[in-house]
Amino acid sequence: MEIWDVKDFSKLKANKHIQKAAEILRSGGLVAFPTETVYGLGANAMDSAAVHRIFKAKGRPQDNPLIAHVADVSGLELLCRDIPPAAYTLCELYWPGPLTLVLRSSGKVAPEVSAGLDTIAVRSPNHPVANALISACDIPIAAPSANISGSPSPTEARHVHADLDGKIDAILDGGSCKVGLESTVLDLVSDPPRILRPGGITLEQIKKVCSDAVYDEAVFSEVSPNTMVRSPGMKYRHYAPQADMIILRGNSDDAARFIRSRAALNPNIAVLCYQEELPLYKGLNAVSYGPEVQYDILSQNLYSALRALDEAEPDIIFARCPEGNDAAAAIENRLKRASAHHIIDLSDISDIGGGNT
Ligand code: AMP
Ligand code: MG
Repeated sequence: MEIWDVKDFSKLKANKHIQKAAEILRSGGLVAFPTETVYGLGANAMDSAAVHRIFKAKGRPQDNPLIAHVADVSGLELLCRDIPPAAYTLCELYWPGPLTLVLRSSGKVAPEVSAGLDTIAVRSPNHPVANALISACDIPIAAPSANISGSPSPTEARHVHADLDGKIDAILDGGSCKVGLESTVLDLVSDPPRILRPGGITLEQIKKVCSDAVYDEAVFSEVSPNTMVRSPGMKYRHYAPQADMIILRGNSDDAARFIRSRAALNPNIAVLCYQEELPLYKGLNAVSYGPEVQYDILSQNLYSALRALDEAEPDIIFARCPEGNDAAAAIENRLKRASAHHIIDLSDISDIGGGNT
């Protein structure tokens, strides 16, 4: 497998690696490439066999559809039908960018992209390498995140390499991803429009165009495996660490007291915390993902922090997680799913130091 360094964004059109990657995609191969959200694993969206290879390389369930990546709104018009005016306004405001629109499919892409649904998810990414690749191959690129299904999405080329070495043809290394969490998925077929997955574009930003937009109920609460969900991806546990992950709700000092009392019983624990909290965890395996209220930094670092924590193979990961804030909805959603909604509210515990739950 080839890894090509494309971190110099100045002459991408003429870059031979972009040309080679486009050639691989046109001939049915798989290329991982950076976007502003996370690294994507791309295949020609018009080629069933190529799209099938994505599912195989990732170990992705066949009923979990992919996102088609396009250059601009003309790509949306090619792949979708019955496009409402709101879709055009959203594209004007937020494309290229971390917003995926679910619309009725025109049936032009390989059916595997939509996993048998009559809708399709489309996005125009905002990253010079992704954009150069899409224009060089001149086809829609079907691309989920470039990780093994169930592991944290990759935000650096080395994460892709760790998960998919030997299973794909090439990686374009464009450095680390700025947003760090996957795109917002907005279902415009449903009425009212629903956010199926929160991401870099917030509900508040969407409400500027669709004032009645709502979060789907599966975004922050558990769905049972038998429930019909609008976005098949929502029924799968998103990132499942080997360890149990538990979110601690409460202030920093209470969380630290609770964790220290647990560590006295089992030293093989790990902590995902805010930068300001690191001094509270001296001597423990604690990884910070950024300052408490800097949600853009927390998003950017979340997945690499989770990968780092997993490496030590802890029995339990205690996590600090922002809750109830629209700007942090994507972080809250990913951590709640990673913990399978296991939350301890420290205000419910009378003797925190004793670790009574
Ligand atoms: P990933 O590319 O790994 O970020 O996953 C794409 C996400 O978009 C998954 O959560 C899918 O379930 C969701 N998705 C893709 N296509 C559709 C669709 N037609 N309807 C609803 N959700 C979709
Ligand atoms: Mg994914």
